Amino acid sequence: MSESTSESTPAIAIVGTGTMGQGIAQHCAQRGYDVHIVDSVSARAEAAKFSITQIFERLVQKGKIADDERQRTLARIHIETTIAGATKNASVAIEAVPELIDLKVSILKEMANSAPSDCLLATNTSSLSVTELGARTGQAARVVGLHFFNPVPIMDLIEVVRGVDTSDENVARAVSFAQALNKSAIVVRDVPGFATSRLGVILGCEAMRMVEQGVASAADIDRGMELGYRHPMGPLKLTDLVGLDVRLAILEHLHRELGEQFRPPPLLRTMVRAGKLGKKTGEGFYEWKDGLPIVKAR
Ligand code: NAD
Repeated sequence: MSESTSESTPAIAIVGTGTMGQGIAQHCAQRGYDVHIVDSVSARAEAAKFSITQIFERLVQKGKIADDERQRTLARIHIETTIAGATKNASVAIEAVPELIDLKVSILKEMANSAPSDCLLATNTSSLSVTELGARTGQAARVVGLHFFNPVPIMDLIEVVRGVDTSDENVARAVSFAQALNKSAIVVRDVPGFATSRLGVILGCEAMRMVEQGVASAADIDRGMELGYRHPMGPLKLTDLVGLDVRLAILEHLHRELGEQFRPPPLLRTMVRAGKLGKKTGEGFYEWKDGLPIVKAR
């Protein structure tokens, strides 16, 4: 059964409530949107809302938001059990399911079938072809990349990815939506990995090869980039934050599309097979406790 209260208010639909879907839901609700979330594992949608509730409680305790604002914002997040329920009044529908093209096509098709005909169909893909997603969905003009960054409420950028046939009007709507979320938008042509993942992932990939080769510890490689190059976070800590499985899926795609320099390091595959996915499972290149990284004993 739907928790939805608003039958006619234009709203944001979010399909997939993992790391990114949760962050997008939190941020959209904080910016005043009604948000309808759905996940194929209903417990994950519940867990996402619970986790957002806890984040807001901490913000109230720290005096960063008032209690009535917390209540109002939480009330804007509605858990739905079907994609049709989540998208029926949506002005923007965003998919944030795993980085698998067939899965994303089927989700976008379902979104297109149930959302109003003028609803923007957005994908949060980090690397897959927005052109292919649009063409295979049969909605080439309406599908656009809205590439959010993790953690969504904190990161300032949205990369708007224009598929070959995405209409100018829908690119402009995507940029306006990004601005309404108080984010800066860059508009990027649809190439594998766009502008950001292509550069970010190659740095992470090289850092993993350096761990494999025993050049330095993960923590020291990160410190090198943080202190020597003023990166706010080293590439291995960032890989833990993103999720090693997510990084592996992106690398596999970029390896197929762009060649050898993106071949996933064997260490990454081994860690994913071992279930060491980073922050979300409590262990990756670091151990994670209470949302903070702890340097592993060497
Ligand atoms: P995740 O694994 O944390 O979450 C994915 C969610 O989708 C899960 O809760 C899963 O149950 C759900 N799901 C799977 N199949 C579904 C279906 N058929 N219907 C509805 N829900 C379904 O993944 P994530 O890290 O949130 O990544 C999601 C997307 O965002 C990927 O395309 C990824 O490349 C992209 N992305 C990730 C990051 C990051 O830092 N993790 C950053 C930018 C973009």
